Amino acid sequence: MKRYSVRTGRRTEFVPVTDLVQAAVRELGLREGVLTVFVPHTTAGITINENADPDVVRDVITALDRLVPWDGDWAHGEGNAAAHVKASLMGSSVRVPVEEGRLRLGTWQGVFLCEFDGPRTRELWVTAG
Ligand code: ZN
Repeated sequence: MKRYSVRTGRRTEFVPVTDLVQAAVRELGLREGVLTVFVPHTTAGITINENADPDVVRDVITALDRLVPWDGDWAHGEGNAAAHVKASLMGSSVRVPVEEGRLRLGTWQGVFLCEFDGPRTRELWVTAG
C-alpha cells in the first residue's frame, strides 16, 4: 500500500488527485488490474467526476451544500455534522482499472479528494486490488 498526504486549503474543496494516483500505479508496479483509492477520514471523501470544466466540481459542491446545509438541526455536538453526511454521500473509496501501467479513466474523468471540514492534512491510501 502507498500512503500520501494531501493538504487542503478550505472548508469545502475538491482536490484533484489523479496525478498522485497515477504515481501510485508506478510505485506499486501495477501493469494490469484495478486500484483502490481509500480516504481514512469521516469528514472527507473521494469521488470521480469531470476534470475538464471546473464548473462541474463547483456545481457538485453547490448541490451538496443545498442538500446538506452546514447550519442544519444537527445532533452531533462537534458542529461538523454536515461534513460527516457529505463524506458518506461521496464515499470513502473508489476503484479504477489499470491497463498497461496507466489509470484507465474516461476521457473527462478525474479523481478528487473531497474535503468537507478543512483546511486539514488528509491521507490517501492506494492499494492494488
Ligand atoms: Zn464530527
